[in-house]
Amino acid sequence: MHALSAAGSGSSQMMTITLQDFSGSSVPTSGIRRLVVPLDQLQSTYGRLLRSGVKILGVSNGLTSTAATPEQSPAGSSAPASPQPATTAKPARKAPARAAHGDVPVNLYKPKAPFIGKVISNESLLKEGAIGRVNHIIMDLSGGDLRYVEGQSIGIIPDGLADNGKPHKIRLYSIASTRHGDNLAGNTVSLCVRQLQYEKDGELVNGVCSTFLCDIAPDAPVKITGPVGKEMLLPDDEEANVIMLATGTGIAPMRAYLRRMFDPGERARNPGYAFRGKAWLFMGVPTTPNLLYEEEFQSYLRAYPDNFRYTKAISREQNNSGGGRMYIQHQVAECADEIFNLINLDSTHLYMCGLRGMEPGIDEAMAAAATARGLDWKTLRPQMKKAGRWHVETY
Ligand code: NAP
Repeated sequence: MHALSAAGSGSSQMMTITLQDFSGSSVPTSGIRRLVVPLDQLQSTYGRLLRSGVKILGVSNGLTSTAATPEQSPAGSSAPASPQPATTAKPARKAPARAAHGDVPVNLYKPKAPFIGKVISNESLLKEGAIGRVNHIIMDLSGGDLRYVEGQSIGIIPDGLADNGKPHKIRLYSIASTRHGDNLAGNTVSLCVRQLQYEKDGELVNGVCSTFLCDIAPDAPVKITGPVGKEMLLPDDEEANVIMLATGTGIAPMRAYLRRMFDPGERARNPGYAFRGKAWLFMGVPTTPNLLYEEEFQSYLRAYPDNFRYTKAISREQNNSGGGRMYIQHQVAECADEIFNLINLDSTHLYMCGLRGMEPGIDEAMAAAATARGLDWKTLRPQMKKAGRWHVETY
């Protein structure tokens, strides 16, 4: 079923089917109707409607203001409705319970006894003319027990001492590789790290750990803790729809998901996970040379055009409709109807990683799309979160 759970509970749950009935009308839009049915009759009603030849435009949960009218058919009630965009809604099926993830490894190595990994490679991910420094760092985990899954993070303890004379605290980084690592041997972990640089009192300050990592040489030892995090895990469902919103190095977990879904070597390693859903990546970077993992994503587009969609927000090259910098939330606003139709399916998960600043804009876009359907985003988003389908890790 649609996991945006319906108004009420149990047998009182009601669902709204929006349909277009051409019979008796030469003007298509005048035939758009809403049918309100109890949840337990949704599947049979849906089938009956399909067989009768009407076009089903969507299924949403709960009663809408126009739909809460007296019954007009044995299955439920119908009422005129404003035109709705077509959706990819499917017949109802039972919503999966939020996954417990009890088998996901966490805190195998703690700050007091970190795992000592070894750098295999440290290479820039940027092209000529890019702003700043972003590196892809692969570390060897051989000889230890540091296991992880896609969407988790590891801690890094940089060498040296902090200003207070004590060892540096750990910094968390999202893992950019799948559980099998980039070499598929299951003994490495990769990070995507931007060197943090900012001005303080007129002086340029380099981030301690990001600079340590961007400068680290192959063969150097590195103190690693974790893994941590269960917020950003991918569903096991091979038919899930996965919407990914990333700014800058927030692409790290998405890069791992996309490898798991589409990389040929990964697919060969995962006979139980042959992704068949829709993956839609929104990626925000300042300039084209700042795009990360572009070649990999382009190869997935070529190999899986029906399963992978890729939308870029290149802030300093594109303008939004207001004339300002194109941020990811502007692209999301432009596609809000399509996104909304997707997240109305309980098989859809949305992941957001990167700058916290994108969150309000994305909420605004989703709220507008919800309002256009007579729904309240303030109610729906917590429901998605509770169902484990709305995953956010922003700093
Ligand atoms: P960045 O290159 O600084 O920025 C990426 C893009 O986001 C740029 O195009 C930038 O535009 C744009 N942007 C700036 N403000 C924005 C806003 N309010 N809303 C939407 N887009 C905005 O990215 P970065 O340095 O890699 O930083 C990524 C951030 O993600 C860092 O804060 C990092 O700590 C965080 N991060 C979090 C996780 C996690 O939580 N697991 C993992 C990785 C990274 P302009 O610069 O052109 O304005």
